[in-house]
Amino acid sequence: MKITILTLFPKMFTGFLETSVIKRALALELVKIDIVDIRDYATNKFRHVDDTPYGGGAGMLLQIEPIDRALLANRSKDSYVLLTSPKAKPYDQAKARELAKKDDIVIICGHYEGIDARVEHLVDEKISIGDYVLTGGELASMVIADSVIRLKNEVINPDSLAFESYDDDLLEYPQYTKPYDYKGFKVPDILLSGDHKKIEHYRKKMSLLDTLRFRPDLIKRHRFTREQKELLLEILDDLKSGNIKVD
Ligand code: SAH
Repeated sequence: MKITILTLFPKMFTGFLETSVIKRALALELVKIDIVDIRDYATNKFRHVDDTPYGGGAGMLLQIEPIDRALLANRSKDSYVLLTSPKAKPYDQAKARELAKKDDIVIICGHYEGIDARVEHLVDEKISIGDYVLTGGELASMVIADSVIRLKNEVINPDSLAFESYDDDLLEYPQYTKPYDYKGFKVPDILLSGDHKKIEHYRKKMSLLDTLRFRPDLIKRHRFTREQKELLLEILDDLKSGNIKVD
């Protein structure tokens, strides 16, 4: 897979490319990431790529021409082109899975007040990483690249991907490691029981409970299996009897 990122601030990517899982994926050539400086495609000797908005208003907008030129020079006919923007449907794990199937992705980062609206005609899709406004698309492109790359074969242990938050609209169950008792906060005993069936049952239950507690909006679109309906009833009983306590 190849990911090409068009940006005005290539330096922002240094730490991202040189650390942890992404560094490893690059070293193993499981993914190739090209960072392209949009200024290299400016048409004036001052390397200006932005201008004031037509109709007035604050700030500077990125112009379409250098972006188009950067795109033409760095895309192939098979590239899937994304534009980072706060004005789009929010990104989610389902979209990450969809993008992970593509071989060639190009991501355009806006900056300053934004980008000439006509750039929309040059892209396949606009993506927002959430309902807030960033100073630029660089962080958004790193979020997209990171979440997609970790889904690629061999980048991380496939067992870690077997069940994760947002799969099936549920959050992952809570996990614990040593020590068993930290200042009175203890690991649930069932996880030390060695009884794998019970542990699996407990984890499914906690996954449902945490989704209800922290992301009830996900539950609304979830279709419950018979097993999950039974687990929900158990959760209610546990809450009533004090077997499970939540804040
Ligand atoms: N004035 C614009 C915001 C521009 S922010 C508005 O009010 O809609 C500048 C750039 O940051 C955008 O062009 C985009 O590339 C990026 N950006 C800002 N917020 C983002 C978000 N939530 N998701 C993805 N990209 C974002």
